[in-house]
Amino acid sequence: MAGELTFTPVIGIEIHIRLKTATKIFCGCSTNTDAAPNTNICPVCMGLPGSLPRLNIAVVQKGMLAGMALHCTPRQKSLFYRKSYFYPDLPKGHQITQSDLPIMAEGYIEVHDSEGKLKKIRVNHLHVEEDVGSLRHSAADGRLEGAATSFVDYNRSGMPLAEIVSEPDMASAQEAVEYAMTLQRRVRYAGASEADLDRGMMRFDANVSLKCSDGRWGNRVEVKNMNSFHALEKAIEYEIKRQKKILLQNGEVLRETRHWNDARGVTTASRAKEFYRKFIVEPDLPPLMIPQEWIDKVAAQMPEMPDEKAARYVKDWNIPPEVADVLTDDRALAEYFEACVAAGAAPVRAANWVRTEVLRILNERQITIGDFPIRPEVLAELVKRVDERRLSTTQGKEVFDHMVEKNCALDEAVKALGITEGGIGGDALAGTVQAILQANPDVVEEIKSGKDTKGKKMKFLQGLVMKETKGQARPQEVAEALAKALG
Ligand SMILES: [Zn+2]
Repeated sequence: MAGELTFTPVIGIEIHIRLKTATKIFCGCSTNTDAAPNTNICPVCMGLPGSLPRLNIAVVQKGMLAGMALHCTPRQKSLFYRKSYFYPDLPKGHQITQSDLPIMAEGYIEVHDSEGKLKKIRVNHLHVEEDVGSLRHSAADGRLEGAATSFVDYNRSGMPLAEIVSEPDMASAQEAVEYAMTLQRRVRYAGASEADLDRGMMRFDANVSLKCSDGRWGNRVEVKNMNSFHALEKAIEYEIKRQKKILLQNGEVLRETRHWNDARGVTTASRAKEFYRKFIVEPDLPPLMIPQEWIDKVAAQMPEMPDEKAARYVKDWNIPPEVADVLTDDRALAEYFEACVAAGAAPVRAANWVRTEVLRILNERQITIGDFPIRPEVLAELVKRVDERRLSTTQGKEVFDHMVEKNCALDEAVKALGITEGGIGGDALAGTVQAILQANPDVVEEIKSGKDTKGKKMKFLQGLVMKETKGQARPQEVAEALAKALG
């Protein structure tokens, strides 16, 4: 008997993202997703006979930015094809897409493998295409069969998409999720897509097969319909388990398309018949030729990517790697932090304030950094005052909270809280110390007679002074003033 069989998952992912443009890919209709059904449509995106597509150059630019964010190389020549099939969401009977010669080729994304080592997942290519309309069925479970009524909305028809196809380089659901999350972060950074999962701007399909230690290869199964990172992870895990069970029973994994049912947590074989599909070169669109100067121009628009940014924070500013990761997760947050530093805040201190205080408020209020009430220059000023000890850390946080609460200026907050900047010292402190000593003669006696060997009574007096000064005196100065007063 052979030893225990082991199975290595082989996973590839296709990701669709909506490109961030004002108008659709082949017409001038708006890409606004909040519009009433069938209001952002025209003969072109409806595919009416005689209408002609015209390529929106902004889609090419955003597609290139997305591809560059994934280390892909732009192609100077690419082609559009017709992918023909019949479905109610596709009135013209074909989708315009790219197949051979897509605009961006051969990139990669780095993820961590099961041992925590960095691993390159190759991106085969990125191509641009049009989205199709959307169907809504009145049956509660979303099935077409048995639905009383189906509605079709063509607003989505002609929305600009990029499809990003990976090589089958992933070996676990975790790697797949990290790949998808990293891709999302990078295309967002590039300004190519909002990639908002909740608004249907990012969708996943996964190809899953298993390689058995006895040399057998299971067939590849395409799993469709995952709309969240959680669904992507669960669908792949389910599929690995299902295929493993079949192979352990010496069965054959069918080469098929399966749908992820999020509510039930299972994949089911697609009952839909495979539609007749054929690719022909789109006769109404010329080959897309992109001059080198234009490629250079788009490349110049590429911002610094999150990984590189995080590495720079660590190297130039001594920010701990885990903090740098948090700060660079969102481009707007990273830019806020950098604006604080540019305004003169010490990087490590500014990083701590942003990571703890600013993110706390964003979480509490469920807002983005764009809606955060304190401008970066003002936070920088606050950080500086704490650094220069004009404000204690506690006072700094009080001032911060007050500014957020009242949406007021820094000096206004300091004044409203009755804080004396620079703390209480000199004569005022000496006076307070005298008053405390007079009110506690027995404690003073104990200290003077040398009974306070552990310094507990001294600490007690210090505490009273700090309380009396509402924490505005510096502990070091209080200790010195007490020592002096006690001789
Ligand atoms: Zn249109």
